[in-house]
Amino acid sequence: MTNIYFLNHMKYDTISMQTNQGRKRPFSQRCIMGLYQNRIVVKVGTSTLTHETGKTDLQSFDRLAQVLSNVQNMGYEVILVSSGAIAVGASKLNMKKKPDTMRLKQAAASVGQCSIMFLYDKFFGDYDKTIGQILLNAEDIEQEEKKENLIHTFDSLLEMNIIPIVNENDSVSYTEIESVERLFGDNDMLSAVTAILCKAGRLVILSDIDGFYDKDPRLYANAQLIPQIDEITDATYRLAGGAGSRRGTGGMRTKLQAAALATAQGIDTVITNGKNPASLYKILAGESVGTLFTGSSI
Ligand code: ADP
Repeated sequence: MTNIYFLNHMKYDTISMQTNQGRKRPFSQRCIMGLYQNRIVVKVGTSTLTHETGKTDLQSFDRLAQVLSNVQNMGYEVILVSSGAIAVGASKLNMKKKPDTMRLKQAAASVGQCSIMFLYDKFFGDYDKTIGQILLNAEDIEQEEKKENLIHTFDSLLEMNIIPIVNENDSVSYTEIESVERLFGDNDMLSAVTAILCKAGRLVILSDIDGFYDKDPRLYANAQLIPQIDEITDATYRLAGGAGSRRGTGGMRTKLQAAALATAQGIDTVITNGKNPASLYKILAGESVGTLFTGSSI
C-alpha cells in the first residue's frame, strides 16, 4: 500500500486526543476547530538555504532564525521543517555535482544534517532560542505507537519553548530517498504531516518563488500569481510543472499535495518566498502574501 494512501486517510480523530493532555492553555492558544491557532509549522526548501553555487546561504539561515525567534516571542509555538541536508553536505564534501546515487546522497545527508543543525543552533542561539532535532521516516508516522510517541515529543519540546527542527532521516531512510513516489518529496509532504500531527493552525511553505502561479514563472514571463485557492483540483495540479529548481527537488506538485493534505484537515497553508521570511508577520496578521490555500471546515 502506498504511503500517500496512508497519508490521505490520516484523520485527526486517530491522533487528536493524544496531544496536550491536561495542559492548560491561555485563551489565544486554545483549539479552534481542533487546531491550535497559535501553533505554526514553517517549511523551508533547499533553494532558500543555499546559493546558486551550492554553498550555504548564511544570511538566509540568519533571517529565518531571527523571524521565527521573534514569532515565538510574539506568543506562537513554532516548528521548523528544514530541507537542505543533502545539498549542504554535498557542498561540504566538495562534490562537483548533485550526488546521484543512494549511497552518496545518504553520505551527503549525514554530513549536511550536522552542518545545518550547527548553523541553526548558532543562529537561533544568537536570538536566545533553544532548538531540538527530530528526524523522521515514514514508519514513524505509520505505526500508531511511534506516532503517539512523536506527538508527545513535539508537545514536550513546545512546552519548554524549544523550536523543533524536523527533517526526513535521509541517511537512514531506504525507500524514499530514491523513489519517484518519495513520500515526503523534499519535505513538502513531511511539513503537512507534521502540521497535522501537531494540530497546527497554519502551515507556511517557504519556497524560491513568490507563490503559486497559473503557470511556471521560470518558463513563462506572463505567469500570474494566484493569491488564494479554496479548492485544489486536477486543474490546479495541471498548472504545476515538474520536479522544481536545480537545487530544490519537490517542485510545485509536491507543494500542492502538501497543501491538499493540510487543508483537508482545516489547516490554512501559504506558499511564499523564503528569501523574505519577514512576510510571516503579514501572514500572521491575516494579510495576503504569496498564495493562501484555505483550510476546509472539518
Ligand atoms: P524549494 O526548494 O523552495 O522547495 P522547488 O524548486 O522544489 O523549490 O519548487 C519551486 C519551483 O517550482 C519554482 O522555482 C518553479 O520553477 C516551479 N514551478 C512549477 N510550476 C509552478 C507554478 N505553477 N507556480 C510557481 N512555481 C512553479
